[in-house]
Amino acid sequence: MLKIITKKVTKRITRMTQIKIVKQRALKAKTNRVNKPKQIKPQKPITKAARVRNMRDLIKKLGRGIIPKEHSSFNHFYELIQRHPKNESIIGVGIHAFKIEYDYISSRTNTIILIRTDGSRVRFGWNENNWNKTQTRLLTEAMRNAIEPTSTEYKKKQTGLICCICKNDKLSYNKYHVDHKIIPFSRIRDAYLKEYDYESIRSFIPKSFDTYRGFTLFKEKDSGFKKEWIYYHDVLYNHPEDYQILCASCNSTKGNK
Ligand SMILES: [Zn+2]
Repeated sequence: MLKIITKKVTKRITRMTQIKIVKQRALKAKTNRVNKPKQIKPQKPITKAARVRNMRDLIKKLGRGIIPKEHSSFNHFYELIQRHPKNESIIGVGIHAFKIEYDYISSRTNTIILIRTDGSRVRFGWNENNWNKTQTRLLTEAMRNAIEPTSTEYKKKQTGLICCICKNDKLSYNKYHVDHKIIPFSRIRDAYLKEYDYESIRSFIPKSFDTYRGFTLFKEKDSGFKKEWIYYHDVLYNHPEDYQILCASCNSTKGNK
C-alpha cells in the first residue's frame, strides 16, 4: 500500500517538475527572443495607368464643384499636383482648394482648377499620361486623330482586312491600322505645319489639347486649324492607292513614319 502511494507521489512530482521545466523554458525563450522589426511589406506601386483610371473615375464620381481641404478627396488631388512636373509654378503661393469645372471651351470634359491661397486660379491637366509628352507629340496625336474618319472610311471599304506585311488576317477589327504607304505621316504633318511658319500666323498652331478617353484632340477654339488640316490632308493625300492596312504590331515596328 505504501509502495503504491509513494509511486503516485513521485509520479505527481515528476509531472509538476516537467510542467515547471516547460514553463521555465518558455520564459527563457521569450526573454531571449530578439524582437525582429516587423517587416513592412513593400506596397506594390500602383501603375500610372491605374492612377489615371482612378482619377478619371473620381472626377466623374465627384462631379463639378469645389474640393476644400476638409473634403475627403482633397488628398487625391493634393498628391496629384505634387507629382506634376510643373507643380511649383502651378501651386505658387499655396493651395486653397481644388475645383472640378465644366470645360466650356471643349464642352467635352471636366477640368481641374487649383485655387491658390491668394484667390488666383490655374487650370492643370490631371491626366498624367500627357505630362511628359512634348508639344510636338500631342500635336501629332491630335492631327492623326483628326483625320481618323478618313482612314476609317478606307478601312470600312475593305472586303477583308489583312496586314500588308505579315499577312495576318485573323485579328480583330481594331487591330488593323490604315497607313500611308509612300508618304509617311510625319512628312504630311510637317508640310502642313510649314504653311504656318510665318510670324503672323505661327501662333495659330495649337499648343494645348483636350483628352477624351485617352485620345488627344484639338480644343474647340482650334477647330479652324483642325478643319484646314483635314481639308489639306484629304485633298492632297487622301488617295486610296497610297493607303495600306497594317496590323498594330507591324505598324508600331514601322514607327512614326
Ligand atoms: Zn502585320
